[in-house]
Amino acid sequence: MTKIEIPLDTPDIEIENVEINKKGDIIITAKSTVKGTRCHKCGGQITKLHCHDREITLRHLSILGRQVYIRICPARYQCTHYSGNPTTTQKLQWYEPRSPHTIAYEEHVLRELVGSMVSDVCIKEDLGYEAVMGIVPRHIKTEVEWCKIERLDVIGIDEISLKKGHKDFVTVVTARTGGRIIILAVLNGRKKSTVKAFLGSFPKRLKKTILAVCSDLYEGYINAAKEAFGANVIIVVDRFHIAKLYRNGLDELRKEELSKEEYKKLKGAMWILRKEIEGLT
Ligand SMILES: [Zn+2]
Repeated sequence: MTKIEIPLDTPDIEIENVEINKKGDIIITAKSTVKGTRCHKCGGQITKLHCHDREITLRHLSILGRQVYIRICPARYQCTHYSGNPTTTQKLQWYEPRSPHTIAYEEHVLRELVGSMVSDVCIKEDLGYEAVMGIVPRHIKTEVEWCKIERLDVIGIDEISLKKGHKDFVTVVTARTGGRIIILAVLNGRKKSTVKAFLGSFPKRLKKTILAVCSDLYEGYINAAKEAFGANVIIVVDRFHIAKLYRNGLDELRKEELSKEEYKKLKGAMWILRKEIEGLT
């Protein structure tokens, strides 16, 4: 028998059991290898084990097409120096309390949402609409650990519509570098000023590593990028829209969602893409 080892990317745990249930899902039972936690009352480190909380089950990244769930009983520690001896549940760095998924899995779904219809992501991931939409607000953040990022290469600016009917949006800013997509931030709304403020906060060292900005046709994003990175920054119209154009034909899309000006711009982009394709074949 061949043994395959796949890193789970969930530090601080020891795997106790792995099984495949009737549905074909992989169920991993794990326990924490970290001792103690920070007391929520006094902030001190506490190591006196009080009990284990009820088991939680967290959806994790799929392995070989199978859904993966991690089961863990969080340890609860007791403070010995604060009156009433309050208890605090230990939380590990790869999940957030009140989320039914690991952080790695939620980031995966966010990446899937970029340039896809929510309904497609639901089918692909076997998740309900509410579950997918519940993930987005949990990831709204603008602080980036820049020191962990070496280069940015291609910046993606995309919108996700939170509700059917396209009224509530968040903006997802990603970096495509070294063969992977890093989520830099999820911004509330899709105002140009919000996006510009975030792009403007990039460290100088990393701004220099930007090769292009990839965005959809929303003009606010393109202008924000030009104002933050300079007018000469290379803007690439998102491949998702280009692919859609190829499927439905330019005229049909124009009727549906483009203003005249956008249509003109797009024709230019189409031409560039056609050249690219010609070059490839
Ligand atoms: Zn305490």
